[in-house]
Amino acid sequence: MIDLVIVGAGPAGLGAAISAAEYGLEVCVLDEFVKPGGRLLGQLHEEPDGKWVNGIAEAQKLYYRALQLGVKIKCGVSVYDIAKLESGWCVYTTDQIYETECLLLATGASETPIPVPGWTLPGVMSIGAAQVMGNVHRVKPGEKGIIIGVNVLSVAIARELQLCGVHIESILLPQSSFVSGDSAHPEKMMESLLRLTHLAPSPLIRFGGKWVNPKIGARLYPRNGFKMWGIPIQLRKTALEILGEYQVEGVRIADISATGEVVPGTEKVLSADFVCIAGGLTPMSELASVAGCSFRYIPELGGHIPIHNECMQTNLKGLYVAGNITGVESAKVARAQGTVAGLSVARELHAIKQRADEIIDIAKKEVIDTRRNALIQFQAGIEREREELYDKGNNVFEEKISV
Ligand SMILES: Cc1cc2nc3c(=O)[nH]c(=O)nc-3n(C[C@H](O)[C@H](O)[C@H](O)COP(=O)(O)OP(=O)(O)OC[C@H]3O[C@@H](n4cnc5c(N)ncnc54)[C@H](O)[C@@H]3O)c2cc1C
Repeated sequence: MIDLVIVGAGPAGLGAAISAAEYGLEVCVLDEFVKPGGRLLGQLHEEPDGKWVNGIAEAQKLYYRALQLGVKIKCGVSVYDIAKLESGWCVYTTDQIYETECLLLATGASETPIPVPGWTLPGVMSIGAAQVMGNVHRVKPGEKGIIIGVNVLSVAIARELQLCGVHIESILLPQSSFVSGDSAHPEKMMESLLRLTHLAPSPLIRFGGKWVNPKIGARLYPRNGFKMWGIPIQLRKTALEILGEYQVEGVRIADISATGEVVPGTEKVLSADFVCIAGGLTPMSELASVAGCSFRYIPELGGHIPIHNECMQTNLKGLYVAGNITGVESAKVARAQGTVAGLSVARELHAIKQRADEIIDIAKKEVIDTRRNALIQFQAGIEREREELYDKGNNVFEEKISV
């Protein structure tokens, strides 16, 4: 039986593998993608101090450190089921069945689609797919693109696409419907955008962004949008339909009021050869659900979250979670959470001989500090919701384990 199997070789999974292997545990990491690194592979951005972060290079550092410590990393392997054993867990994969003392789910997040008329045309993709094409495979998704959905991720990836040499014509809102929800609402999206103004190249936007009230901001928002890196971000325009005969040729758009209603007579067509849909991210928690974890719905963390404590233990013995499966945050937070999870497993298996609690407390503090200093916050209220979850998570954990 292996000490620790980890599902997901993103920053959380690799971070956990490293910290557990540093205490001598036998660790095996499984990932269905062809390369380790998870969503880190697609990331490329400039830090406030001017340094560039290249996700591929960061992922390689984690990968090589894990290999150095003797971690087995298997790519191209999908985990489709897990089951509790009398002692430990059974992991069913497309490769073989693994038995493990402890199991860590670090499966990340998935994108939420927003249906738009015409979205089945060739050339329409999710914003994450465009990121992978550009940054991982070095293939331009097109020459001129329109992004439907204004959020932290769409603006960050628009900039990455621009760095790939792609022209982004516009980032605008989807049309209001029961599926698009808040993402079609100018005031709500103004709130989301204000969390990004510190990244803007213009000092005026960086400074002004701190003081703007989202309601007033949405009302006064310029009809032709605000530009970041020269890309128009339009909160008062909506995408009505993606146009094209055999592939994307453009998008029919219209002006909207501050509360999202289409202004009659304002329709026009913008040309483009590809369209990205950005509906936000949701934790990929299916395996935790199959295992029988308790869940809580927390919109600020991206959706249904397996209940866990600050040591990343779920309410099921030997089952841990880390990274975006516990709530959508940046890669650095995911990695720090992975470290906590790896150390917690090492403590459970008595591999840390001395000061285990102290070592884990330092790693937990690192998660909090990383969260506070994160370059981007996917949602407002993450810190508050985390604290509340951990209060309740700790109780649930104690109740179930002591039975
Ligand atoms: C499309 C997208 C774009 C993002 N862009 C950014 C960005 O630009 N900046 C930023 O800070 N954050 C971004 N994020 C958030 C990003 O996911 C985190 O920052 C970080 O990568 C999360 O780390 P993780 O280890 O939790 O998950 P991930 O990095 O997502 O890794 C999870 C891994 O688990 C594997 N996996 C999942 N299910 C299974 C299974 N059943 N069997 C086997 N393997 C499985 C996946 O293949 C994946 O490699 C993005 C997220 C997504 C989904």
